[in-house]
Amino acid sequence: MPELPELEVAVKTLKPCVAGKIIAGVLVGRERAIRTPREDGPGFAAGLEGRTIQSVERRGKALLFRLSGGAAVVFHYKLGALAACRREALQETAGVAWNFRDGSALEFTDMQLSEFHLAPEAELARLSVLKDGFDPLSRGLTAIKLAGLLPAGKQLKAALMDQEVLGGIGNNYSDEILWNARLSPFRKTAELSGEEMEELARQIKATLRESIKSGGEEEFRDALGRRGRYQEKVHRRAGQPCPRDGHEIEMVKKGRKTFWCPHCQV
Ligand SMILES: [Zn+2]
Repeated sequence: MPELPELEVAVKTLKPCVAGKIIAGVLVGRERAIRTPREDGPGFAAGLEGRTIQSVERRGKALLFRLSGGAAVVFHYKLGALAACRREALQETAGVAWNFRDGSALEFTDMQLSEFHLAPEAELARLSVLKDGFDPLSRGLTAIKLAGLLPAGKQLKAALMDQEVLGGIGNNYSDEILWNARLSPFRKTAELSGEEMEELARQIKATLRESIKSGGEEEFRDALGRRGRYQEKVHRRAGQPCPRDGHEIEMVKKGRKTFWCPHCQV
């Protein structure tokens, strides 16, 4: 499941191949991915054709394309999805594709759970996929801010994954952040000392930035088809030695799987 670092890499690699392009045609091979919020609005293809892509940005776990004429498309990027720049226009797609007037294209594929929303910009605030919490990469994420954001009674892993608290952290990076911060995923946020909160705030940013620098996790591919190189320390590594102390990494499944080292994460 793509999280903040993968979305950040997607935006960085998409920008040069979509910004300023005019959408000449829209191919929809997967009707189920299209969710337009307004019944009385234009259809998805008709609403996009002729518009210029003014910008693409990350919002939590979604990509937001701002278009000319006050419209916007939100792509909720989920499991296995791929947004790829194509040099040539496409004739068909199993996913969704935008052919640009300059002869290039953008294709979205493997979208089992992904969704598109086309909306007037003025209505974006109503889209639930954009209702995200504080941006973990923002400068304002200090220890004091974080202590105020994290719900006191929640366990750390669940609190970090709460999209209304922090936008864009999911199952993968919550495990990695807590390993980096040497904190047990099962500690209650209210139990953290000032120093521990300080370290948690630092490691949230450091972990996400490290993955962005590596192009995201290994199953992810950026808009140019390049595979991510981020090496997980604990996530999906149950039974393997902890990179810090060699003790066995454990996994517990309560809905979602949590991976951690009981020796150094306390
Ligand atoms: Zn360890």
